[in-house]
Amino acid sequence: MWMYDLAREQAPTLEHLQQICELTIASGYNALGLYLEHRFAYPSTPWMHGKDCLTPESIEWIQEQFPQLQIIPFVNLLGHFEGFLYAEPGARLNEKLFAGMQACANKPEFLELANGILDDVMRIFKSDIIHIGGDETSELAQCAVCKAKAKEYEEAGFSDGKAELFGRHFGPLAQKVLDAGRRPAVWGDMFLEHPTALDKFPKETLIFHWQYFESASKTAGIFKEKGLEIVYCPTIQTYNATWMNLPQSERNVTENAVDAHKDGVFGVCVTTWECGLFGNYETIFPAIRASGKLLQQAEAGELQANPAWETTELKDERGGSAFLKEYLAEGEDFEEWARLMGIELLDCGGVFTWCGIRSSLKCRLLLYSNPFLAWLHHRDEMIGETGKRALNIIERAVVFAPNASYRGVTDFGKSAIQFIQFAEQSHLEYAKGHPGAAVAALTPCRQIFDNLSKIAQSNYLRIGGSTADQYRCIAAKLHVEKVISRIKEYGDGSLGYLPSYEMITHPCFVPHDQSGWWLINNWAKE
Ligand SMILES: [Zn+2]
Repeated sequence: MWMYDLAREQAPTLEHLQQICELTIASGYNALGLYLEHRFAYPSTPWMHGKDCLTPESIEWIQEQFPQLQIIPFVNLLGHFEGFLYAEPGARLNEKLFAGMQACANKPEFLELANGILDDVMRIFKSDIIHIGGDETSELAQCAVCKAKAKEYEEAGFSDGKAELFGRHFGPLAQKVLDAGRRPAVWGDMFLEHPTALDKFPKETLIFHWQYFESASKTAGIFKEKGLEIVYCPTIQTYNATWMNLPQSERNVTENAVDAHKDGVFGVCVTTWECGLFGNYETIFPAIRASGKLLQQAEAGELQANPAWETTELKDERGGSAFLKEYLAEGEDFEEWARLMGIELLDCGGVFTWCGIRSSLKCRLLLYSNPFLAWLHHRDEMIGETGKRALNIIERAVVFAPNASYRGVTDFGKSAIQFIQFAEQSHLEYAKGHPGAAVAALTPCRQIFDNLSKIAQSNYLRIGGSTADQYRCIAAKLHVEKVISRIKEYGDGSLGYLPSYEMITHPCFVPHDQSGWWLINNWAKE
């Protein structure tokens, strides 16, 4: 199976869902996971049905159209509850004040809500497997009530109070799924740290053990010992890339598929995450198709992990890349584009280098309504060799981009580099006491965000891409305009001092707060 992440503001129409289901079947998968979070119109939560979220009617429709395909709901019933916590009626359910992404397991209103969501999905989805979430609940025992409970459990002789909190919350929910004649599934990560929580789950619980940088087999021991069935979960790495880390994704899928067969586990779920922030599902469909084929080959015992991957990247293995082969099947320009954006770009250094966390280029440019953060952290590399090389590769990729989806991803990369370069140019003029030239250097940036906004709209229309991205671009442009007017007003030294460029470009800048007290006084950043 593979899993489609709707949570980062994806807005697929019925047509897109049909396309995705057809791709799933054609690629040899037997099931499609839908990672929902707050992007499903649960009948019991009418207060949080965001624009274009998935509806029960669309699920009924695809279940009718594709009866051979198991459509598995992935809901979140504790952590990753942020879409509920940051909507007004859900705000009081949080574990921490206006922070994090976890609900409080000891609030009765939350338990009622979680049970309602579960009832909804079990009624609407026909799937045997019902995934109830459970990943990344790192905020366990942070509120006063949960903290006291955890302490109480430990004083009563339980070795791990947090494991008790987790197990006593999820165990009954898993049991509820089982009692309804279905199979409960949970993510495996929290058990690695809190293994005793497993004792609270029914033995039929299916563990989705995700390991995105190695084979899940290496850490699956605790589940095997308990006799639990496991699904190994690799990922197609888009969240930590400008587009996709192609060799690392292929390696992760292959290693997990090979080991799943070797270990005889229940199955493999190829996850995909976060196509908000200018990701685009259409551009990773060939990788999803390739992964489906790899899974089938592994199941037939015909796939081996490439030993070269143990020590190096896939660089010299291009000829044998199963992912590139699927791009080539679409056309030579697809393959060349994927090679440039998914392999060559990673060699440029700086922010393009492979890393395990969410792409800092995407985040700093668009996630915080202050694109100057991208300048703050990446200016040296972008005006240097890294920027030059990356721009060169991206400009070559623009030529090959076969359609608007691929062009959009490429243009995003180009725009990010250009914005940082323009901002640095503006900074240098500003520092020299040339506010007019500093403003002139920033002027093209307004156009950059206008263009990105159009690309976001196109992603939304073409493949049900993020509904938020175009508003992120509007926010970025507004901030650029605000900075332009500040430079016009204060760039001539009218305050008696020239605020640093870091300071004058920051959303919290206040004239005459020369010492930047808001920055020094850390807690006030709340
Ligand atoms: Zn709590």
